[in-house]
Amino acid sequence: MLGFMNEKKRILSGMQPTGRLHLGNYAGALVNWIDLQHRYESYHCIVDWHSLTITYDETERIAGDTIEMVVDWLAAGLEPDRATIFVQSLVPEHAELHLLLSMLITLGRLERNPTFKEKVKDLDLRGEVSYGHLGYPVLQAADILMYRAHAVPVGEDQIPHIELTRELARKFNTTYGEVFPEPETLLTPFARIPGPDGRKMSKSLGNAILMSDTPEDIFGVVRTAITDEKKIHKDDPGRPEVCNVFAWHQTFSPGRIEQIATECRDGTRGCVQCKKEASEAIAGHFAEFRERRAGLEIDTDRIVDVIREGSRRAREFAAETMAQVRDAMKLFRLEL
Ligand code: SF4
Repeated sequence: MLGFMNEKKRILSGMQPTGRLHLGNYAGALVNWIDLQHRYESYHCIVDWHSLTITYDETERIAGDTIEMVVDWLAAGLEPDRATIFVQSLVPEHAELHLLLSMLITLGRLERNPTFKEKVKDLDLRGEVSYGHLGYPVLQAADILMYRAHAVPVGEDQIPHIELTRELARKFNTTYGEVFPEPETLLTPFARIPGPDGRKMSKSLGNAILMSDTPEDIFGVVRTAITDEKKIHKDDPGRPEVCNVFAWHQTFSPGRIEQIATECRDGTRGCVQCKKEASEAIAGHFAEFRERRAGLEIDTDRIVDVIREGSRRAREFAAETMAQVRDAMKLFRLEL
């Protein structure tokens, strides 16, 4: 198994521990990870230290949210024998590499980082930017470089972070000697899953449909969705391209998209029926997931074992990387 895995290229990706996942998390990342685990040696990190940039004063939720999220990962099809599932803070080498990399980048470069500017705006951080906010991409670079990852599966919004990671890898290699491959951006296709209000789906915005929601819960959210405001009566011609319900159909009703779009435009499809069908399609898509989840969520010991074993494997890899890093930097080495 290991020999086979070693022939594959390595990827690293992470998710903050936010508890049960919503459809945006699923379509934006998880569904790709499940596919990629068959082709890459995959490391999937629960980035709990990164979550402190948002919730540094609510740490009591992190452990429970980590368990809930890993239950979702496993129930959706991530296989712990194929993919290494681990918790960032259980591999403290990430902090050590973060510190070393932080010497190789200027403050100006971090301040110019477009995702930093966005975060300041999104979280309304003006005047309250912490050292952690600014250093976030350096810690992310440490997460990636620790596993000498060849590629990182991301959406387009994360490209600046991968570019910064590549810069840090280059700077380290030219300063101290070759240790890190420059990771490629593995742009993964992902569907746009808006909330019912048309904004990005997010639990904090209160517009999320969770993967684990019951069919009744799903319908409760779907029925509130904003559709085409110009389609008031069933026989009014509609514009599926502006409709949130149609966006969901595009992912969860494959094979029926053309028909739904045509009926909407023709005025032979009403929004009430369309929402009912979207709700059924979403609930149907996650029916097996809900069953598997019900079995996993009562077995917390198994989830903890998966995290323990994955974190042990990750730490083993990290220790090897850090030995190479310390050698390259000619830091003092001594058995204590
Ligand atoms: S019929 Fe369906 S796709 Fe068309 S506007 Fe209504 S909900 Fe949207």
